[in-house]
Amino acid sequence: MGATSGAGLSGKSVVVTGAASGIGRAAALRFAAEGAEVVVADLNADGAESVVDEIRSAGGTAVAVAGDLSDGAVVDEVVATAVDAFGGVDVLVNNAGVMDSMSAPVDVTDAEWDRVLRINLTAPFLLTRAVLPHMLSAGGGAVVNTASEAALRGSAAGTAYTVSKHGLLGLTRSLAVMYRDQGIRANAIVPGGTMTGIATGLDVNREAHGPAVVGRYMVNMGRISEPEEQAAAIVFLASDAASSINGVVLPVDNGWSAV
Ligand code: NAD
Repeated sequence: MGATSGAGLSGKSVVVTGAASGIGRAAALRFAAEGAEVVVADLNADGAESVVDEIRSAGGTAVAVAGDLSDGAVVDEVVATAVDAFGGVDVLVNNAGVMDSMSAPVDVTDAEWDRVLRINLTAPFLLTRAVLPHMLSAGGGAVVNTASEAALRGSAAGTAYTVSKHGLLGLTRSLAVMYRDQGIRANAIVPGGTMTGIATGLDVNREAHGPAVVGRYMVNMGRISEPEEQAAAIVFLASDAASSINGVVLPVDNGWSAV
């Protein structure tokens, strides 16, 4: 890896979830470029291994953990891997997420509700709870959560998704308040439309639900961001440059939330 930016991330142990693709992949690559040691955690085993290969071939340090992060045993494996390989967890990025089928409340099945809440909200809670003892014993750490525009207002992006992302902001803010005197910061990014697998999925949903639903979601979205633009915000919030920033919800949305 080349020269780092002095963000204080060199040698830090960083866990990024959903790091096999999209925003998480871009964040994992950027942390590695800053000299951090990265746990690439994702359901997609091949994708996670290929991101690890990409980091190693650029001279960086990374290890993959494949599995469903809504399963507590996988969460334990992720944290144990970070501790064994890199000596602890300095930064946790809860980024893995799934959309629902953009259903209105009356159409949400029990199974869909449970699945989306479990992946988008329970998994970040389980991971946070598991890394906190390591951050506390190290004297500090940073958590960055990937929320969504759907966390800021009622959204046609789907009921379960919207609720899960609102909840993720609650988790972020609770952490920020409860651990601020122990050197642990927690912040969230709020991506606007970003060119990833989830965004491509909107086209599938467009067919399933018609342009009206997707149009309600897309209105005022503006320019679609690149995953690297979201990753830059994640890495900033985890870095020493953000040492006094705690409990913040940062839109990275080209002004969508300003409309
Ligand atoms: P993506 O589909 O490319 O990435 C999501 C990753 O999460 C995938 O690699 C997937 O395999 C992984 N994942 C899904 N379920 C998992 C599970 N149970 N366990 C482990 N890994 C799992 O999409 P993305 O846009 O990069 O999504 C990243 C985050 O950004 C999500 O939380 C999403 O809600 C949020 N977001 C994205 C957009 C956008 O427009 N792309 C907008 C707002 C918020």
